[in-house]
Amino acid sequence: MIVRARVVATMDGAPIKNGAIAISGDRIDDSPPGSSPSRAARLSRSASAGSIVDVGKFSEVSARHSGEKIIDLGEQALLPGLINAHCHLDYTCLRRKIPREKSFTDWIRAINAEKSKLSPEDYIVSINEGFVEAKQFGTTTIANLTAFPDLIRQFPDAPIRMWWFAELIDVRSPDRAKEFVAFAIESLKSAQNYGLAPHALFTASKNLYQRCQEAGKDVLLTTHLAESREEMEMFRDASGPLYEFMKNIGRDMRDCGHETPLALFLGAHGGHVLPKRWVVAHLNELTESDFELLEKIRTKFHVAHSPRSHDYFGHSPFQSERLRRLGFNICLGTDSLASNESLSLFAEMRAFQRSEPESSPEKIFEMVTVNPASALRQQNTLGRIRPGFRADLIAIPCREGRDLFGEIVAFDGEVDWIMANGRTQSIQSPAAGSV
Ligand SMILES: [Zn+2]
Repeated sequence: MIVRARVVATMDGAPIKNGAIAISGDRIDDSPPGSSPSRAARLSRSASAGSIVDVGKFSEVSARHSGEKIIDLGEQALLPGLINAHCHLDYTCLRRKIPREKSFTDWIRAINAEKSKLSPEDYIVSINEGFVEAKQFGTTTIANLTAFPDLIRQFPDAPIRMWWFAELIDVRSPDRAKEFVAFAIESLKSAQNYGLAPHALFTASKNLYQRCQEAGKDVLLTTHLAESREEMEMFRDASGPLYEFMKNIGRDMRDCGHETPLALFLGAHGGHVLPKRWVVAHLNELTESDFELLEKIRTKFHVAHSPRSHDYFGHSPFQSERLRRLGFNICLGTDSLASNESLSLFAEMRAFQRSEPESSPEKIFEMVTVNPASALRQQNTLGRIRPGFRADLIAIPCREGRDLFGEIVAFDGEVDWIMANGRTQSIQSPAAGSV
C-alpha cells in the first residue's frame, strides 16, 4: 500500500513535499468490513506487516512499488502518530469534577473522594472513553499509568498502542511492597508492553521503589517526582499541608526534613548512576542544589511534562530549556482529566508554546513523537516516518506556503485520518456526555 500526501513530516530532515510512503501489507486486511481480527490472528502477522518500507517523493515511491494500492490524502500533511508520555486513562471520567484547588493536598483529598464513588466498571468505561478521545486527537501510543493493573486484561484489543504502567502505592502497608510488585507483574503480563510506576516518594516506600527497579531489565519505570511546592516542603522542611496529611494517615515521616525530593530519589537509587533510565513525570519544583545534582548524574532520565496540568495546579515555571541543555529528554503528556480538559497532545503543544514562545515548533513536535518514542525505548520503531518503523500515522490539513511545524502546533481540530500498525482506523464519536 502507498500513502501519498502534500507533505510528509518524516522527522528525519526536511519534510518531503508531494511525498509518499509504502507500507508492507498483510492478508488480514482482506477480512470483511467490520470484522475484527482475533488476537491470535493479529499476532500471526509477519513481523514486518504494518511497517513502513519506503519513504520519498510520490513519483519515486510509486515507481518503486508499482501496482500497489494508493491512498491519496490530498492536501494534507502526513505525520507520525502522537505519543502521550504521561497519562491516567482511569480518570477520564473525572473531567471538570475537581475545581482548581489552592492546595495540591486538597486536590489529593478531592480526587480520593471522587475515586471512592467509582466501581471497576466505571474505570473500564473511563479507559474506553479515553481511547476514543485520544484517537480523535491523533494519539497512537500512550504511556498510561493505571491504579488497577488487574483491569488491563479487559483491553486485549486496545485501539491504541499502550504501555501499561502499574501505579503502586504502599503508604498504608509498606511491609507488602514485594507482594504488590509481584501482583502487578502478574497482571501486566496480559499486556504486550508494560512497566511499573511507584506513584511518588510520598506514597511509595524506598523498598517499593527498589523492588520496582529490580523487576527486570525489560520492565520500564516511571514515577511522579518534585511535582508540587507542598512535596518540596514535606521532604525538605518536614512541614506544610502534604506533610501533615501524610503524617495523619500514618506514613513513616523519618525521611522528611533532610533533602529535596530529587536528592532523596537519587539517593535511593544509587546516587549519580541510576541503574535504569526512568521516565520522571513533572520535575516542576527544583532548587539550585537539585540542578547541581542533575548536572552530575550520568543517567540523564526522561522527563514527562504536562503543560496544562502544570497550569491547572499553578506550579513553579517548568525549566525545560535548562533541563534540555543538561541532556534530559523532555516529552509531553496530558496527565489525567482530573487536572486537565482533554486528551489532546496538540493542546499540550500549544500550552507549552505559550509558556516558551521561543521554542521552535519542530522541537515542540519532537516532544510528542521522537522524544517519547525514545523514553519508551522505541527509538527504532516509533516517532518517525522511516523504513523499518511501524506505520502509526496521522494526517492533518495544511496550507501551502506556511511553516509546517507551526501549522502542526497550531492545529486545534480533530484528526480525521489515522493509521495504526498499517491499518486505517475509524474515528468514533465520543460516547454521549463524555466531552
Ligand atoms: Zn500523573
